Amino acid sequence: MTMLADRQRTLDSEREKLVAATTAGQLTDEEIALKTTQLNREQHGLLVAQERLRTGRYGRCVHCAEKIAEPRLHALPFAIRCKNCEEQREQAETAARSFAARTGAQPLASGATR
Ligand SMILES: [Zn+2]
Repeated sequence: MTMLADRQRTLDSEREKLVAATTAGQLTDEEIALKTTQLNREQHGLLVAQERLRTGRYGRCVHCAEKIAEPRLHALPFAIRCKNCEEQREQAETAARSFAARTGAQPLASGATR
């Protein structure tokens, strides 16, 4: 899957740029933290996608096991849910957030990968 390999290369060069900019003192601590979190999240998504590819589950929804539409996978190579399940998850998340806002309850951590 060249799409994932390309993504890995992009990620590696982003990481190198971050290290270079950090070494050169061009970034604030906040920027470094933000970028590191972002890169780690991407890396995690990539590892999950590679593992799913290896085990033949790539491109299948983790929820309903339906095939994820090709255009969706192109736009979101790390997508692990089909459009329907993703929408349902987002609705559930929005509901959980508004519940949390009303009651002060802490929302449960949701899977960071998309
Ligand atoms: Zn699904």
